[in-house]
Amino acid sequence: MTASELRVALTFDAEHPSRPPGPAGNAEHLLEVLAARDVRATFFIQGRWATAYPGVAKSIAGEGHTIGSHSHHHAMFTLLSPDGVRADLKSAQEAIAETAGSDPRPWFRFPFGDGEGDEELRSALSSLGYRNVGWDVDPDDWDHARTTDEVLRSVVEGAQSHGDGAIVLLHTWPGSTGEALGDIIERLRAEGARFVGVEELLDPAGRA
Ligand SMILES: [Zn+2]
Repeated sequence: MTASELRVALTFDAEHPSRPPGPAGNAEHLLEVLAARDVRATFFIQGRWATAYPGVAKSIAGEGHTIGSHSHHHAMFTLLSPDGVRADLKSAQEAIAETAGSDPRPWFRFPFGDGEGDEELRSALSSLGYRNVGWDVDPDDWDHARTTDEVLRSVVEGAQSHGDGAIVLLHTWPGSTGEALGDIIERLRAEGARFVGVEELLDPAGRA
């Protein structure tokens, strides 16, 4: 690693949106944009979403992206009992294994980021072989009021101001993300960015 290195991990939460869905085929479009530019990314897959879109889940794995779990029901984890946490993670793991053909462990992202600050949840996660992956750059792409250009600028400027090792939070369903992704990659590459999976930035056993 050199002083000027700018590694960027693009991460996509693949989930049933809690709002009106984006354009049909958006997730497949993202995969095409990534493949055309030879970019590896990380996908946090919701178990129920994988069951609904098994072909897309399989493509994500088949194209070599890093896979993590984004829970099964996308519930607030702080509202679940310890048994509920275990059951949810197990259902997600099974759904992802059946569809994508891969084990999401150790990577996990809390739905809504809810649970990140909770010591008990974090140690429950780690006892089940997972670690939470947060983010450094959040363009709020879930918000329908955000334009493509706002998502683009927010990611490019956020990654640059963070510097090396920026983890970017995106979702598979917003149309603005689908429209912005090619330009995000090209602009960051023009700044010297190299796109990596989260495993290149984080210790799998780490608790941060
Ligand atoms: Zn989510």
